[in-house]
Amino acid sequence: QSTWGNVPQAPPDKILGLKDLFQADDNPNKIDLGVGAYRDNNGNPWIPLSVRHAENILYNTEKEKEYSPILGNNTFITCVQRLLFSQDAYGRRLLNDGRIATAQGLSGTGSLKILAEFLRRFNPEGPVMLPDPTWANHKSIMQYSGLRTETYRYYDCNKKSINIEGMLDDINMCKPGTVILIHLCCHNPTGADLKLEDWHKVIEILHHKELIPFFDSAYLGLCSGDPIKDLKPLFMVNKAVVEGHLPTYLLAQSFAKNMGLYGERVGSFSIICSDKSEKQRVNSQLAQIVRSTYSSPPCHGSKLVSIILSNENLYSEWLTDIKTMAERLNSVRIMLFESLTNKYHSDVDWSHLLTQRGMFCLSGLTRQAGPKT
Ligand code: PMP
Repeated sequence: QSTWGNVPQAPPDKILGLKDLFQADDNPNKIDLGVGAYRDNNGNPWIPLSVRHAENILYNTEKEKEYSPILGNNTFITCVQRLLFSQDAYGRRLLNDGRIATAQGLSGTGSLKILAEFLRRFNPEGPVMLPDPTWANHKSIMQYSGLRTETYRYYDCNKKSINIEGMLDDINMCKPGTVILIHLCCHNPTGADLKLEDWHKVIEILHHKELIPFFDSAYLGLCSGDPIKDLKPLFMVNKAVVEGHLPTYLLAQSFAKNMGLYGERVGSFSIICSDKSEKQRVNSQLAQIVRSTYSSPPCHGSKLVSIILSNENLYSEWLTDIKTMAERLNSVRIMLFESLTNKYHSDVDWSHLLTQRGMFCLSGLTRQAGPKT
């Protein structure tokens, strides 16, 4: 009798399962469209130049590989807070008032997980509303943390654009304390983001319905090619917080894509608090969750991030790296649009491909609407 004989087979992860199928396929023209990872013009993974240079500096200066503090190294936290919250007057105000609890997370996923655990402890009733569609792991992370999830309408597959009325109606129906998860930019998997005027309307409802916004920023910079421009929606949210319309928000952020640090697992999570003493208490709880989960975050990637964000030359090199990635992603979209429209003379309107941003593209290809062969 086997001890684990009753353990059933779990379903395979759909995206990682695609990678296995890809590897097993011997078609020489195959292209891996599964995992969201940047590829250069030759289809190869790419290490940004800023990261290579930071690796060099680190190699020559690193003196220890001791444990990081539970919530991450102070230098890292200061650099990340400067990147995310010091680009607008309202963010700076929140920072200066000591209202932002920020910690290093294990990339975006680990950051979402710690925030989800925090919500389960301190906002257990509020379901988490996820956009429909969304990155599949959002649902798993929230549900495995004991939270209830529901969805709000986000994308209209027929119109091939955001269903803003549907989204506003759905979040408007939520009870106070409901958590609304919103992709900050480069929505996965549609590549379709809210316009700034949509953000205004969303923030109004978050305010009037007393909802808790939870932002996921996995692709900062890859929308416009400039991380600071991509923060614009957050500036609007910061304004609402400073003006007293929103008491809080949560932010999970990843350096996987915009620094090419996928496997280094480096990101951050932040919670906006009402004042310094609340921040201290929130931090103490976050530390307890992390301590009992993985004790402390890995140090290598966070040292690279700190070097890039604190060194003027490397920072501007990083901005160029992001531009390089965003421009290539957009040039691939244009190629896809042009070949579907001009080369294959498809009679479908593919213009939605041109407005999508980031690493994802919801092509709208169906068996019927594919290119004429
Ligand atoms: N959020 C979204 C929307 C994502 O698409 C991803 C990665 N696919 C993540 C978070 C997490 O990525 P990572 O853990 O690699 O930083």
